[in-house]
Amino acid sequence: IDSQGISVYALVEQHGLKKIASGKVREIYEIDPQSLLFVATDRISAYDVIMKNGVPQKGALLTLMSVHWFNLFKEKIPDLKTHLLSASVPASVASSLSAEVSDQLRLRTMHVRRLKVLPLESIVRGYITGSAWSEYKKSGTVHGIAMPKGLQESQKLEKPLWTPSTKAEVGDKDENISPEQATKIVGEKYAKKIEELSLKVYQIARDYAAERGIIIADTKFEFGLDVETDEVILVDEVLTPDSSRFWPADKYELGKSQDSFDKQYLRDWLTKEGLKGKDGVEMTDAVVKETAKKYREAFEMLTGQKWDEVVKSSA
Ligand code: ATP
Ligand code: MG
Repeated sequence: IDSQGISVYALVEQHGLKKIASGKVREIYEIDPQSLLFVATDRISAYDVIMKNGVPQKGALLTLMSVHWFNLFKEKIPDLKTHLLSASVPASVASSLSAEVSDQLRLRTMHVRRLKVLPLESIVRGYITGSAWSEYKKSGTVHGIAMPKGLQESQKLEKPLWTPSTKAEVGDKDENISPEQATKIVGEKYAKKIEELSLKVYQIARDYAAERGIIIADTKFEFGLDVETDEVILVDEVLTPDSSRFWPADKYELGKSQDSFDKQYLRDWLTKEGLKGKDGVEMTDAVVKETAKKYREAFEMLTGQKWDEVVKSSA
């Protein structure tokens, strides 16, 4: 597998799987009209640009972390439906893949229900940071919602806040919007449902992570629609360092920006080197190593499993 996983994904196509989409991080193939193979590569993006090289095992890590959460929600939120069918390549497809390709896909795939994705990024914020902090400093609002006076950077909000954004086309930037604007995009019924489910999932995850020393400052969900039953279903990756801001709880300090578990090291390096937002940047070995370490740390704290053992035991 090369750093971006290109070679193996080309191979998958040679085995007759049709590619449906290629995101910044994932390659998505059609299994049958009702389901998809959701493959996380080792690609990493920062400031909306994909780096030239990848972070080894990142795709597997993101996949297993999502699967961990999906399984937890099955137990804790029985009325929540998710797109996960299984955490492996379906047998019908696996049998037609070479051993090499099967091995490459191992740990980084989910077999998921194919759904109509509702065009909103459903963000929940438990703490004020990032673009929400920037907006608050300017106007005292967050996604247009009036906020109490005197909040400090990284402060915990009294209640988690649902702050949707648009789901931009490839190459465009998502835009923060108010809940009212979200209602205009997907309709009141679905907007309400998405808000309710997002807040419920966030609160369960926040409490779970807090017991393990991690603050989930904010996170982004996506939802799909089962057009036959009209049900709103949790899709995509969930609560990974790519879709969330994870902060180590023991380093939390009010009134400043926090070092997070995810891409902070990479972002800081890009900024320092004047490479922020540039195309085709190759990360140094040290940056790759440090980033991989951060992702692994988050995985191990959240799941209580040792990464090396997870990889070994699945071989
Ligand atoms: P973009 O798609 O804008 O590049 P991204 O970089 O986050 O965003 P990836 O994470 O690489 O994309 O790919 C995941 C894509 O698959 C997202 O566009 C997401 O909306 C879509 N998706 C997630 N779950 C499902 C599902 N169950 N059915 C259909 N599409 C899905
Ligand atoms: Mg994504």
